[in-house]
Amino acid sequence: MLFDVAIIGGGITGASAANHLAAAGFSTVLLEQSDFASGTSSRSSRLQHCGLTYFSPGRSIWNFLRHPRMAFEHLELARRAMRDRSRFVTTTPERVRAIRFHMPLYRHEGIPPWKARLGFRLLEMMDRGGAPLDFEILSTDRIISTPALNHLRDSEKLAGLVRFTEYQFDWPERICVDTVLNAHDLGATVRNYTRVTSIGKCPDASWRVDILDLRTGLAEALHAKIVLNAAGAWVDQVAGASRLSLPRVNQGLKGTNVAVRLPLEFQGLAFETALENGDPFYLIPWRDLHYFGPRDQPHDPDPAGFSADEDTILGLVRDFNSVFPGIPLSREDVLYSWAGVRPRTARPGHPDGCEAVLLHDMAGAGAPGYFIYTGGLLMTHRQAGVSITDALRRHIRPTNSSRPISYAARTFPPDKESQTLSSGGETVRLADLRFAAEHEHVLNLDDLMFRRVPFGWSEGMGLDIAEAVAEAVSDIMGWSTAEVGYQVERYKAHVARDFGVGLPCI
Ligand SMILES: Cc1cc2nc3c(=O)[nH]c(=O)nc-3n(C[C@H](O)[C@H](O)[C@H](O)COP(=O)(O)OP(=O)(O)OC[C@H]3O[C@@H](n4cnc5c(N)ncnc54)[C@H](O)[C@@H]3O)c2cc1C
Repeated sequence: MLFDVAIIGGGITGASAANHLAAAGFSTVLLEQSDFASGTSSRSSRLQHCGLTYFSPGRSIWNFLRHPRMAFEHLELARRAMRDRSRFVTTTPERVRAIRFHMPLYRHEGIPPWKARLGFRLLEMMDRGGAPLDFEILSTDRIISTPALNHLRDSEKLAGLVRFTEYQFDWPERICVDTVLNAHDLGATVRNYTRVTSIGKCPDASWRVDILDLRTGLAEALHAKIVLNAAGAWVDQVAGASRLSLPRVNQGLKGTNVAVRLPLEFQGLAFETALENGDPFYLIPWRDLHYFGPRDQPHDPDPAGFSADEDTILGLVRDFNSVFPGIPLSREDVLYSWAGVRPRTARPGHPDGCEAVLLHDMAGAGAPGYFIYTGGLLMTHRQAGVSITDALRRHIRPTNSSRPISYAARTFPPDKESQTLSSGGETVRLADLRFAAEHEHVLNLDDLMFRRVPFGWSEGMGLDIAEAVAEAVSDIMGWSTAEVGYQVERYKAHVARDFGVGLPCI
């Protein structure tokens, strides 16, 4: 079969590319080695940032003047962040929630209230009429009257505090799965548990893509006029395995978050500040809990990059205590942790890579028709799909005619009679579980728990309900009693390894 485009990687970037390309009429195949959204897209801080971060300390006006390329890039990134935030909030309101962020402004730390006001006004100007920032600058008297803020460090040195609205993706994995399913509805072939083992150029100028179906163990090959490598932090490994001699384009950066329960006065509040070393620190509400991070460091996308290490967890607890010395935490307060490797665009001399978001056309490196996307984020994934489609349209014509794209959050068919299962504050209808198992490309229990229904991210990570969920879908999945047992143990092992909850047992 000859496709117009073969996409490698079913994270948010590949999913969005598939949705936009299929809508534009390109015959498209999306290939994911594991489950959709199980890579970095499942390990984020879930923020649809307003773009303020691109103006943060270290990106001072002097730094910008010294590095005009960086200044231009960062202004453009902030503009895109504001625009994409508004678009997502407007088109898919079911999958985001507004949260009130608080950013302390300390005297002698570089951001006086007037500068903060200027920054926010600039952001507002970049997106007139968009989702509001609702920013306000609180004076020190009002700070004192908000109990949670009294736990902040050096409260006597505060010059004020900015309060503004950010949006949190409620469940990025489901946004990614919805996007894949929307692409499928538009005619895209979507395959999870299908690893691309190598790619090579054919005499007719198409690409041969060798794949391994991990469900059956069978090796196959397919052909495509264009290959889009959207494998996130793995993009260079795909080229390496194919013995294509291409420049390195990605720099992985491992980030970690930990979840804790804070006193009631913190309920629903979010904080953003800079640590003493200038690194950003985010404290973000999640259901009744909070998580904080990210403590980034260069890392390859190996298994260690997707599991929080003890030193980093302890470091994050220290970071928290330096920001909120009024309520010191200890290691025992950490309920769970997660980590992931960010795909960042490589740049010589920058060990952390850079924030540029780029589609690399590898024609100049001897691989015409081979494209690599780097630096893709959750918050800009729609624009990634648009820009990739526009770029590929300049190279080939779509085989099919275009169709309207859907950004809809998928809903399960109504079934008022269905019984429910509940765990950790989440309630799911049995009918929805069974629908997902049957129609949403599920292979393992963790696909269902984390990426089709929300039990995985509930407070106890769904450990108490895993067996009931496996049993509820066993007839659809063809799982025997022994397989149900295996799936439950596999799930527990996954939660222990990747989130540090319970003991590894498989
Ligand atoms: C701690 C942390 C916090 C973050 N916070 C935010 C945030 O608040 N907001 C935000 O917008 N972004 C955030 N990010 C960044 C964001 O999560 C990622 O940039 C984004 O999810 C990357 O998506 P992707 O599709 O490019 O990569 P991925 O989601 O990793 O997808 C790539 C996929 O390619 C697959 N793959 C690899 N090799 C092959 C192969 N050979 N064959 C087939 N498939 C293959 C992988 O299995 C993977 O699923 C954060 C990241 C981290 C780590």
